Amino acid sequence: MEKSAKIYIAGHRGMVGSAILRKLQQEGYSNFVLRTSKELDLRNQADVFRFFEEEKPEYVFLAAAKVGGIVANNTYRADFLYENLMIQNNVIHAAHVADVKKLMFLGSSCIYPKMAPQPLREDYLLTGSLEPTNEPYAIAKIAGIKMCESYRRQYGRNFISVMPTNLYGPNDNYDLQNSHVLPALIRKFHEAKVQGQPSVEVWGTGSPLREFLHADDLADACYFLMQEYDGEEFVNIGTGEDLSIKDLALLIKDIVGFDGELIWNTSKPDGTPRKLMDVSKLHHLGWRHRIELPEGIRQVYEKFVEHEDIRVL
Ligand code: GDP
Repeated sequence: MEKSAKIYIAGHRGMVGSAILRKLQQEGYSNFVLRTSKELDLRNQADVFRFFEEEKPEYVFLAAAKVGGIVANNTYRADFLYENLMIQNNVIHAAHVADVKKLMFLGSSCIYPKMAPQPLREDYLLTGSLEPTNEPYAIAKIAGIKMCESYRRQYGRNFISVMPTNLYGPNDNYDLQNSHVLPALIRKFHEAKVQGQPSVEVWGTGSPLREFLHADDLADACYFLMQEYDGEEFVNIGTGEDLSIKDLALLIKDIVGFDGELIWNTSKPDGTPRKLMDVSKLHHLGWRHRIELPEGIRQVYEKFVEHEDIRVL
């Protein structure tokens, strides 16, 4: 990717897209074509096709998606399936028609079967049934992988896919109902500390195991793979290390400095028991993460407190 290349980042306002934009800017890229969701509705095929025809981007990072935590995925099942399929179908097909040199599609670790052996290797895709709480989202992401693979096979397109593990970082969603566990717990512990509450409610049993990667590390890996990887098979992106939700809660409680109790609300779903990426392919290609979890949470918490007055929750 030459420094003058014209790059479209779909979803540049989101946590992942904004991290990719920061990374590329740091690397000296400046020829971006960007649209907010208000300026360009990616669910609208005619608008997306017109945009590609007019702008003719050379490289595309497809980081736009409807995303959310376990309850959001389980509640807005139709929206997660429909909107994600529309966005990715429109962008991937338009990229083909507009002769884009290379496209990267970002998926998710929830594409793997619920009971797949751990850690999750790339070749476990489609070997079993999915976790029911996020099946619609996962089906959309699997369709995206197959779109990239099929446009490569039929039309020789250089479209690659990457599957990030659970992410956290700047521009995350802190909404208590719809966010993922890490930002939700940062907010809950912080508010409980500030308001002097005796306890914090945490969902599920605390036993599920999850892996977390900082969005800046993800952006670094995406940049690396956009330059170095042209394969048909997708690549997992993660740290290869996980911890229980209970240990995560204790770590965040400690960093935030809340000294009350945890109350486990087992009426909320646990979701899949474990979701740990096998990152040997990524390591063999020559990339590994840099930001360890405690350091990353400290960073994110600092920003969370700094922006407290201006943040719209
Ligand atoms: P998942 O990785 O798709 O299951 O999505 P989440 O990040 O939303 O949830 C991960 C795990 O954290 C699940 O077992 C949740 O029940 C648990 N969890 C505990 N407290 C919370 C919370 O306040 N918000 C969310 N979203 N999950 C929580």
